[in-house]
Amino acid sequence: MNHTKSEQIHEEALQHIVGGVNSPSRSYKAVGGGSPVVMARGKGAYFWDVDGNRYIDYLAAYGPIITGFGHPHIAKAITLAAETGVLFGTPTEHEVKFAKMLKEAIPSLDKVRFTNSGTEAVMTTVRVARAYTGRTKIIKFAGCYHGHFDQVLVAAGSGPATLGSPDSAGVPVAVATEVITVPFNNKEQFQLAMDKWGDEVAAILIEPIVGNFGIVEPNKGFLEYVHTVAKEKGALTIHDEVITAFRFHYGAAQDLLGLTPDLTAMGKIIGGGLPIGAYGGRKEIMETVAPLGPAYQAGTMAGNPASMLAGIACLEVLKQPGVYEEMDRLGAMLEKGILQSAEKHGITITVNRLKGALTVYFTNEKVENYEQAENSDGELFGRFFKLMLSKGVNLAPSKYEAWFLTTEHTEQDIMETIEAVDYAFSQLK
Ligand code: PMP
Repeated sequence: MNHTKSEQIHEEALQHIVGGVNSPSRSYKAVGGGSPVVMARGKGAYFWDVDGNRYIDYLAAYGPIITGFGHPHIAKAITLAAETGVLFGTPTEHEVKFAKMLKEAIPSLDKVRFTNSGTEAVMTTVRVARAYTGRTKIIKFAGCYHGHFDQVLVAAGSGPATLGSPDSAGVPVAVATEVITVPFNNKEQFQLAMDKWGDEVAAILIEPIVGNFGIVEPNKGFLEYVHTVAKEKGALTIHDEVITAFRFHYGAAQDLLGLTPDLTAMGKIIGGGLPIGAYGGRKEIMETVAPLGPAYQAGTMAGNPASMLAGIACLEVLKQPGVYEEMDRLGAMLEKGILQSAEKHGITITVNRLKGALTVYFTNEKVENYEQAENSDGELFGRFFKLMLSKGVNLAPSKYEAWFLTTEHTEQDIMETIEAVDYAFSQLK
């Protein structure tokens, strides 16, 4: 496969854009380096690079593209916005319609607010939780990503009862020490942290089904326990559903799990591919937000008509009967094919899958926390990633990411992908 033009463009990008990319995860740093493939256009489950190579895509732009590229219903909505005004700086009816749709699908949302990114949505839920409780500390789980604002770019201290340290240059130690990081799926460590800091904790920040060290479901009873202890200690629960909202069913992960968080942050899918974030939750908590209350959050672009109309159109597509069942069916087929091929070639892997999302870890351990995901073989994954790319299958360039199916993938695409996997595994030995 020829990537000459991609390489030329990336060389030029390196002169003008930091690291040649506008988000670090797009670089191939985690898969052994090289020029990232530069994409030209997409349609359905495929996209084509600037050299004319076609790929079956499982990146889905890190999650949002659940209806594939250039979906006609979404394209029509975006065109309408382009023709009738993409931004007014005033309220529109679209915002109300979309807020109602989200509330209908996710019962814990009494009131919502739109933002422009997942980062902004999560950042605001943390501020609102602090404003509402009058407390400052946050507990998060190791390996979960919540955006790039200071308070969540924090690494674990040396144990759950230790305060965090900055995970990025530029994050003040004073900010990091307000954050406690504990391992996912570990009740004892969570309890230790709550015993020590519980009375100072404003909120527990939770990816209810983890997407950021691969797809990892909570063990039975774990999140129920977290919710119960949080309530006992007067801390709020925040579900970061930026990946999970509308990924697994028409609604949020909280409803699949039977949990009711105080606040929820969303993004990605709900924008139909356009920039978006949203947060919402219990009425009395949300009413601490300006102009009703003292917690400030705003945005020139927030609730813009293009993102609202694209989001509404995306949810309309997802609401069609059978959509999620089909992604589940194809996901199961893909998982089975990957496992069979691994066995055939003597490659040791663990596959975590929930419906149309899965992660392949090069490890013989089960993966239910970050440490186990970290222990999977990144060098082997890097080689696998490049072999898949050479066969026209695009994955996320990191061992920690998920493969996402879309409504546009077909059985034929899955078969082709399994063939590519079989080739890649044969070469990895
Ligand atoms: N929360 C989670 C769970 C995410 O996966 C992400 C993005 N990968 C974010 C928040 C941040 O969203 P954004 O990139 O839109 O700011």
